[in-house]
Amino acid sequence: MPSLTRADAERRAQTLAVTAYAIDLDLTGGDDPEHPTFGSRSTVTFTAQPGASSFLDLRAVDVASITLNGAAVDPGTVADGRVELTGLAADNTVVVEATMGYSNDGQGLHRAIDPADGLAYVYGHLFLDAAPRVFACFDQPDLKAPYTLTVTAPQAWTVLGNGAATATGPGRWELATTQPLATYFVTICAGPYASVTDEHDGIPLGVHARASLAESLRAQAPAMLQVTKDAFDYYHQLFGIRYPFGSYHQVFVPEFNAGAMENPGCVTFRDTYLFRGAATDDELLTRANTICHEMAHMWFGDLVTMQWWDDLWLNESFAEYMAHRTLTAISGSDDAWVDSTMSRKAWGYAAERAPSTHPVAGSPAPDADAALQNFDGISYAKGAAVLRQLICHLGDEAFVAGITAYLTEHAYGNAALADFLGAMEAASGTDLTEWSKVWLTTAGVDTLAAAMGGDGLRVTRRAPEAVPAQRPHTLDVAGWSGGTQVLDADVVLDQDEVVVRADVAGSVGLLIPNAGDLTWAQVELDAASLTALPVELPRVSQAQHRAVVWVALTDGLATARVDPRLVVDIFVAASPLEENSSILSRSGALLTSRVLADYLADEEVPSARDAVAGAARARLESAPAGSSQALAAARILAAATRDVEQLQRWSGSVDLPAGLDGDPDFRWLVLRSLAGAGAVSAADLEAAREVDNSMQGNLGALAARSALPTAADKAWAWDQLVGDHGRSNHERNALASGFWTGRHTDLVREYVAAFHRDIPALEGRVGQDALARVATLAYPRSVVEEATITATDERLAVGDLSAAVRRCLIDQQSVLREVLASRRAFG
Ligand SMILES: [Zn+2]
Repeated sequence: MPSLTRADAERRAQTLAVTAYAIDLDLTGGDDPEHPTFGSRSTVTFTAQPGASSFLDLRAVDVASITLNGAAVDPGTVADGRVELTGLAADNTVVVEATMGYSNDGQGLHRAIDPADGLAYVYGHLFLDAAPRVFACFDQPDLKAPYTLTVTAPQAWTVLGNGAATATGPGRWELATTQPLATYFVTICAGPYASVTDEHDGIPLGVHARASLAESLRAQAPAMLQVTKDAFDYYHQLFGIRYPFGSYHQVFVPEFNAGAMENPGCVTFRDTYLFRGAATDDELLTRANTICHEMAHMWFGDLVTMQWWDDLWLNESFAEYMAHRTLTAISGSDDAWVDSTMSRKAWGYAAERAPSTHPVAGSPAPDADAALQNFDGISYAKGAAVLRQLICHLGDEAFVAGITAYLTEHAYGNAALADFLGAMEAASGTDLTEWSKVWLTTAGVDTLAAAMGGDGLRVTRRAPEAVPAQRPHTLDVAGWSGGTQVLDADVVLDQDEVVVRADVAGSVGLLIPNAGDLTWAQVELDAASLTALPVELPRVSQAQHRAVVWVALTDGLATARVDPRLVVDIFVAASPLEENSSILSRSGALLTSRVLADYLADEEVPSARDAVAGAARARLESAPAGSSQALAAARILAAATRDVEQLQRWSGSVDLPAGLDGDPDFRWLVLRSLAGAGAVSAADLEAAREVDNSMQGNLGALAARSALPTAADKAWAWDQLVGDHGRSNHERNALASGFWTGRHTDLVREYVAAFHRDIPALEGRVGQDALARVATLAYPRSVVEEATITATDERLAVGDLSAAVRRCLIDQQSVLREVLASRRAFG
C-alpha cells in the first residue's frame, strides 16, 4: 500500500476542507477467530473547489457501498487504499459502508483475547496512518474536523473514546462531538474494561484496564490520578489555556506498541504500566512521566498539530521537556531529570551515533512511512535538551510567553517550525536564525572535554567533522575529590575553547563536564578522571553528576574509548552504595544487557558475571528489605548470576528477597536466566505459564522458551517468530528478545541468514511500526562477527526493504560495529 506523500497531502489540503465526520462502528459480529472483522459506516462532509477531484483513504476488507453527494461510486474502483472522488461540488457528503479487519499488531483497531478469562478487548491506535483501517477519511494531520462517533458493542462492554461516551440503549453508545481533531488522534476503547473514575477542577477523570488487572488498577489508581490532577493544575497555570477536550480518560490497553498515545480525551497506555508485582521507584517515575508527557500533548500536538510529519519535534520534544519540568515541579525532586539522563539522553546519544541521525527539525519526511522512522531519540531526547538550551538563551519568562502565544494563535489548527520560531522571537526580541540553524536544522552532537591547567578551567568543544556547526552551549563543570565537590563552574561555551577562572580547593580527582546535564553533548572524561572513577564515583553525592558519568561511560563504550572491563570495575565499586533508583536500574541494565551480553570477549564473561552478581548481592543485602534498591539489585542479580541453584530456589519461591514472593514478573526473569543456562525445559516453562495464565505469563514463557539453548527450541522459536501462527506484535517481540541471549553463538549462527531472509518477509503481515520493533529485537547482535556485518550489507544492497526494516538494519548493524571496534581495541 503506497504511503501518503507530502506532495499529495499538500495538494489535497488545497483542494478541500473537512467539515465533520460521523462514524458508526459495529463491534458485535465478525467473530471468525482467524480474521475477525467489524462494521464501519463513515459519513464525511467537506467543502471543495467545484469541479475538482481528490481521493479518500480507505483500507477495508470489504466495501459494501460508496455514495458521493447521493450518487453511487463503484466499490470496485477502490485501489491502493484510495477512493477517487471526481466532480466535487462546493459542499459534499461521502458515505462509505464497509467491513474492516481487526489488527493484532497494535495498529488500527487492535483486538486481543485475555487468556486469564477469555474476554476480548479492542482499542484504536490510528497513529500514524492507520485511520483508514477503521473508517474512510482524508488521512493527514492538517485536515482536522470534529468527530461524532456511535458504537454498537456487546452488552457487557464499556465504550470509551475522545468524546464523553453515553449508553443510549443495550450495547448502543453515543460519543459527544469532539473539537476538531487530526485523523490520527481518533480512538475507541471497547471491552469489559474495569474502571476507576474521579473528577478534578471540573474535568471528569477515569482510569481503565482489563478486568483481570482490576486489582492492580484499583490499588494504583490513586497515585496515577494524583499525578494527573497536579499536572492539570501545573499546565493550566503555565500555559494559561484550559484543557480543551472535555473528560480525560487513561486506558491501559493490551499489546500496545509504544509507551502511550495522546488521543485527546482518551489516552492509551501499554498495560505493563500497571504493575502486577513490586515496582522500583524509577518504574513509578517513568509511569508518572508518561502521564505528564501525554497530558502535555493535549496542548502540543492535539490542540496545535504539526502541519506535516517533518515537524514531529513540535509534538515530541515539547512533551518530553514539559513532562520532566512538570514532574520536577509537582514532586519537588530532581529525580525526573536524573532519570532523563540515564534513560532518555542515553537513548538520544545512541540515535545521534547511528547512521540514521537527523536534525531535530526539518528532516525530510517525503511520505508518512518515512516520518515514522523519526520517532526516535533525536525527536524526543535531543529536542528536549535543545529546548533547555533555548531557555538558557532566551530566559524562561520569554519562553513561556512564546509558547502561550504560539498555542493561542494556532489553537485547533496546525503549525510549522517557522510559526514556533516567530512566536519565540516576538516574545523575546531575539533573532533565532543562527541559533535554530545550528541546534534545530543541523544534525550532530558536539564532544565536550574539560581540563584543569595553570590558567584555570579549560573547556573545549569539538563538532563532528561530517556536519560542522558552531553550537553555543550553556553548561556547568563539576570537580570532585574524595567525596567533596571542589569545583562548580558555570560556563558559556560560545567558541571551541574557553578558559574560565576557577577556584579549586585542593586537587580535582574527577572532572565532570556538563555535570548538571543542561546541554546536549557527548562528554569525554579525561584519562585521570576515568582511572579514578572506581574510587571517586561512589563518593559523589550529587545523583545528577553520577548519572552524567554513567552516560559518558555508555558513550565511551560505544566509541571504543572506555574499556568494558573498567566499566565492570566501576559498577562493582559504585553499585553497592547507589541510592538513586534510576542510576542503579539503568547502570545494572547497561552491565547485564550490553557489557556482559556483547562487549566483553567470551573468556572474560564468567568472572565479570560473578563480579556484577557479587555487587548486586551486596546492594541487595545492604538495602532495606523490600525497598526499591533491593528490588533493583535482585533483578540485576537474577540476570547476572551463574548460581543456578540460587535461581532454582527463587523459581521455587524459596529464600526470595522480601516483597518478591508471588511476584510473577520476577519469577519470569528468574526462569529466563535459568532457560539461558539450559537449566529448565520447555515443559517446565509451560507448567509455569499454566500457573501464571495471563497475557504477561504467556509473553514470559515465550521469551524464556526462545532462550533455551537447544537446536530444537531455537527452531521452534524462530518458526513461531516469523511463521504464520497468528502471533501478535508482543508475542513476536517476546520471542525475538529471548532468542539471541546467552552467548550460544555456535547454536544461533545459522539464524543470521534466517534473520535477513525472514524478517523483511514479515512486511505486509506486520505493520511498519510493529515490524520496526520486531526487527530491532530480532537483529543478530550477539553474533559478534564480521560475517554478520557482511550479511547485513548484502541484504541492504538488494534494495527492496521497507523504510522501517531498512532503518533497523542500518542502525543495528552500526551498534554491532561499535561492539566489534571495542573488542578490537580492548580484546
Ligand atoms: Zn509523545
